[in-house]
Amino acid sequence: MKVNRYPQKETWSGFVKRPAIKREKLAEIVAAIFDEVKKKGDQALINFAEKFDSAELKDIKVSEKEVETAENLISEELKTAIQEAKLNITKFHASQIPDIEKIETTSGVVCWRENRAIEKVGIYIPGGTAPLFSTVLMLAIPAQLAGCEEIILCTPPDKNGNVNPAILYTAKLCGVTKIFKTGGAQAIAAMTFGTESIPNVYKIFGPGNQYVVAAKEFAQNYNVAIDMPAGPSEVLVIADENAVPEFCAADLLSQAEHGSDSQVIFLATDENIFNQAILETQKQLEALPRNEMAAESLKNSHFILMNSINEALEFSNLYAPEHLILAVNNFEKYIPQIRNAGSVFLGNYSCESAGDYASGTNHTLPTNGFAKNYSGVSLDSFVKKVTFQNLSEKGLKNLEKTIEVMAEAEGLFAHKNAVSIRLKEQNERI
Ligand code: NAD
Repeated sequence: MKVNRYPQKETWSGFVKRPAIKREKLAEIVAAIFDEVKKKGDQALINFAEKFDSAELKDIKVSEKEVETAENLISEELKTAIQEAKLNITKFHASQIPDIEKIETTSGVVCWRENRAIEKVGIYIPGGTAPLFSTVLMLAIPAQLAGCEEIILCTPPDKNGNVNPAILYTAKLCGVTKIFKTGGAQAIAAMTFGTESIPNVYKIFGPGNQYVVAAKEFAQNYNVAIDMPAGPSEVLVIADENAVPEFCAADLLSQAEHGSDSQVIFLATDENIFNQAILETQKQLEALPRNEMAAESLKNSHFILMNSINEALEFSNLYAPEHLILAVNNFEKYIPQIRNAGSVFLGNYSCESAGDYASGTNHTLPTNGFAKNYSGVSLDSFVKKVTFQNLSEKGLKNLEKTIEVMAEAEGLFAHKNAVSIRLKEQNERI
């Protein structure tokens, strides 16, 4: 880990850089994979599963039997936990369904907006280094609440050509319609073009490693929408003298263990808490089963001593973290200053893993500074907002002059005529 004490603001730009594979190189790899999937369909996916996942597959599609068997392969305890998390995530996302409000903008002119579900969506569930069945909850629950008709799921197979049973169980529980054993950029290409087995979709969701993120970006060249760039996980923790170093260290490591390309940032205003958190991070790291991965990620991570919470928040807004934890006293007073963050955790007991699994908020969030211009996944991500309007004859009369003058000024006389022709009789009557 890189340790810094009171760095000058001019040097901050050096700390906000994420560890990343060069974009040009990634784009090249992804373009070649898209090309192969477009040309060879399912066979390309089978070949890539062998190359990247060491899996020999006969069929890309997960069978009904595999889904049914999965239910018997996971413990009752895990099933209960998944169902409990589902309840909270459903509650939070159902509250995002808006009431329809009809607005009379001018007498006789009524406008409103309604949600319409995106009919076919594809969700990507990472499976490379950890089987993220929690991500199934985060994507399939809002998709189902929104009313998406087809919910396709792609995830990499393990070495034996299987999908983790918890992913299959959760997918069935949340109304996923079809599940496929394919990961990485090839899964994104398959959902973009469609193959013999996999239907193409209108929008692709889900986090993944840098290949997945680059592939989602590339897919947009083919009229497919994406949720956002959700890549290697990040957390930024801001701690004052009331923070608990053990808690801070655990939170930092909970993101560091995601992958070697994850990044964690610790900003403290108290030297004692700062030093203790560093020691504690090293201590807790030793005990983690994924400590090699977490240690690799810590090499790209920064522990920085700051002059004040205000200064730390200024840094955080520049960094735009996926997750922000405020382990500070009177956190309410700092909320208005938070401008760029995917999801915020307030106080010593709001650990980031609560949001990852079960508090109710979505864990698919923008990374790599994209919290500056993207939101995390929500119910809105699965719908389009369609506007409606109804004008009475009187309503159109009220807008007649405004529209005609503007249309004429733009030189669009058919636009003007669409109004005049309707009101001609009325104007002659007057
Ligand atoms: P993954 O499923 O994203 O990627 C695995 C796939 O990557 C493999 O199946 C393979 O197809 C492809 N791949 C691997 N090496 C390759 C290579 N050399 N060339 C081309 N393709 C290659 O799983 P992962 O690797 O475990 O990554 C999961 C990521 O998701 C982590 O970085 C984690 O931090 C991130 N994540 C982010 C969020 C978020 O909301 N932002 C949430 C959860 C997880």
